[in-house]
Amino acid sequence: MSTAIKLQDITIHPVIEQQAPFFDPLQFFPTLSKELLEENRSWLEPDCLDPATGMLVLCVQSYVIKTPHHNILVDSCVGNDKPRPARPMWNMMKSDRFEKSLTATGLGVNDIDYVMCTHLHVDHVGWNTRLENGRWVPTFPKAKYIMADRELAHWTEQEKKDPTVCPWITDSVLPIVAAKREQIVKSDFALNDQVVCLPTPGHTIDHFSVLVGRKDRDALIAGDMIHSPLQGRYPELGMRADYDSPQAGQTRRKVFDRFCDTPTLMCVTHFPSGPPCCVKHWGDGYKFEAVEV
Ligand SMILES: [Zn+2]
Repeated sequence: MSTAIKLQDITIHPVIEQQAPFFDPLQFFPTLSKELLEENRSWLEPDCLDPATGMLVLCVQSYVIKTPHHNILVDSCVGNDKPRPARPMWNMMKSDRFEKSLTATGLGVNDIDYVMCTHLHVDHVGWNTRLENGRWVPTFPKAKYIMADRELAHWTEQEKKDPTVCPWITDSVLPIVAAKREQIVKSDFALNDQVVCLPTPGHTIDHFSVLVGRKDRDALIAGDMIHSPLQGRYPELGMRADYDSPQAGQTRRKVFDRFCDTPTLMCVTHFPSGPPCCVKHWGDGYKFEAVEV
């Protein structure tokens, strides 16, 4: 089991579904030049860049937040049985890794009170639903699913125009709304004083991150406001699926400036799993330094 983070009476557990060399960095970051990649290869390898294949190593994971009052799941990975023709590695997946990793936190699907969706991309909403007798039903039957209003409106509209471009909305988001399990919020929503959404737009239209804990004993579950530490060193480096890359770059600078040289821990969904880290300055950008917790 991966390292859990303890913040006084709150614990954050990573729930990992996959970790593998997934994408060609030059395609994943369309403005990344070969020269810049070479300049950074030595520190990216082997954890973030696979020396054998040259592919970016990414983790697909959720986080479980246990508080004295609630159990919260942030994001829900790729999921099983879902047709993803554009993504062979996620197409009709049949994996027990998510379930086993959730069980390792001591919780089952009935124990989750809230599912917080940082954004509505394919690798963040999959386990929102599961297949039961040919129908998509909420995986977490007692949970309210928290989604940002403009994010849900945007993707609902996209799905209506052409469901083939976002099949995950059809099978993993709209069934939650049909089952009346959604809780639509503004992206600065506070669940309570220790679980607060932070608007981090750019990668998607109304993306949020989740700040957990009390001052100086807190952690930011970043979601997809950053995908690789390379975007820490170069905050303006856009990712190919960004809704608005310049805005995503501004978001990274704003957030990392705020948390730089503070004890706030960073839990970044797609960084390869490892110890939690803090943000430090690095030239004109930022680096992530592992810390003991
Ligand atoms: Zn993602």
